[in-house]
Amino acid sequence: MNILIGLLPAIGFIFIGLVFISSVIEKQWRAVCVSLTLEIVYTLFWFFLYVNKYQVFAQIIIYIITALVVLFTMASLIKYFPEEDEKQYDIEQFDEREHMFSRNQLQYHPDLASKFYAAHPEFKEIDHKINNQPELGEEGGRFYDKYFAAIPEASFRLLDRSRFLATGTAENDITNLSLEKLTQTIKFIAKFYGAADVGITKIKQYHLYSHRGRHSEYWGQKVKTTHKTAVVIVTAMDQELYRYSSSLPVLMESARKYVESAKIAHIIAEYLRMFGFESRSHVDGEYEVLCVPLSRDAGLGNVGRLGLFIHKNLGPCVRLSVVTTEAELPVSVNKPDESIEHFCRICKKCSDNCPTKSIPSDEKPVSRGFPHWSVHQETCYSYWKTIGTDCGFCIKVCPYNKPNTLLHKLARFYISRNPLNQRIALFIDDFLYGRKIKLPDKNPDLFSIAKRKYS
Ligand code: SF4
Ligand code: SF4
Repeated sequence: MNILIGLLPAIGFIFIGLVFISSVIEKQWRAVCVSLTLEIVYTLFWFFLYVNKYQVFAQIIIYIITALVVLFTMASLIKYFPEEDEKQYDIEQFDEREHMFSRNQLQYHPDLASKFYAAHPEFKEIDHKINNQPELGEEGGRFYDKYFAAIPEASFRLLDRSRFLATGTAENDITNLSLEKLTQTIKFIAKFYGAADVGITKIKQYHLYSHRGRHSEYWGQKVKTTHKTAVVIVTAMDQELYRYSSSLPVLMESARKYVESAKIAHIIAEYLRMFGFESRSHVDGEYEVLCVPLSRDAGLGNVGRLGLFIHKNLGPCVRLSVVTTEAELPVSVNKPDESIEHFCRICKKCSDNCPTKSIPSDEKPVSRGFPHWSVHQETCYSYWKTIGTDCGFCIKVCPYNKPNTLLHKLARFYISRNPLNQRIALFIDDFLYGRKIKLPDKNPDLFSIAKRKYS
């Protein structure tokens, strides 16, 4: 007991010190100030107790603190979340024509616009207002920059011009093939070319868009597939660039990672075709599937309140691409991380900080026949066009958006155990990083970022 009493202050001191050092490395200045203040108060507190250690009141406090710490540590290891109803829902497929990106294209195709708004008059007025705003990266957006805004635009043009790479002809079947080995190699290729994670799942009907809507040549085409499995590729975005949210570096980073994840998906699809399997890559602007539910079902994380996929180690600061194939690859056995869903119920930080209130703050609303969180795409996208960049402020403020360091891994493990840990972790996150975060009013110095990070 005496050893424990002696060790406790030292462990606490080291832990707060680690938080301080890690905050300095991550340039989280509020957390630096908070942890430094805490370290000083903590040291003074124990110093005071030890100076008075022969006094009864000091001994009682030391014993109480020791008992509480031991109790909390033991309780924090218990894995328990209340059982959820495993209801089966009849999920209605999402029509890509209703996606805001598709609707934004209709202004350039009057014939399609009249068909669409005849079927959906409820979107006509709001879409017209959104269409009148400058496109992302164009002059007129709040964070427009003559030199840097053209970079994401060039990346999106590259993606658009390389859409033909998504499909191809499967070559002759190769016999005596081990699907296990093929799967292992696919996972290797993904990581070899820069993916942070990869998972495989069986394709279900609700993973597919009902109709295509992004490009005029396929607009309204029904999505059908004979493919059995999907390979989900996760690419990590630079969390430091997302700290500048919502300003231009977010659009630049987002575009960069769309390109990177497309490259990996195209290579894997081609690789599978070389082994005789019909395969298709699904990349920015060229999807037939919904990446978010596929990533969830591949056991890579879960869907967060912000309507995006939250990876179990990397948080929401990721980009996704998918390869679907007729090969019946062995699927990943991991289940969706339910602790993320539980944490989102109490956290609501994205919802509180969203500048357009596009993220629901209550229980999951029901749409397309099942309860799920999704953002109000009209207000969100309209804001993107006002500022001229991806916003990503919800990604920035999300407590899961932390580097995958030992300290944050420990925090993620802690959050994944039980609801009490989650409440404590949320309190600490708010305390260290703040609850209400300020939006930027101008771009950071983009040339100095370019020089510091990439020269
Ligand atoms: S900010 Fe909080 S509520 Fe929103 S997605 Fe992240 S964890 Fe969930
Ligand atoms: S991207 Fe910005 S506007 Fe859209 S939901 Fe997230 S915080 Fe809100």
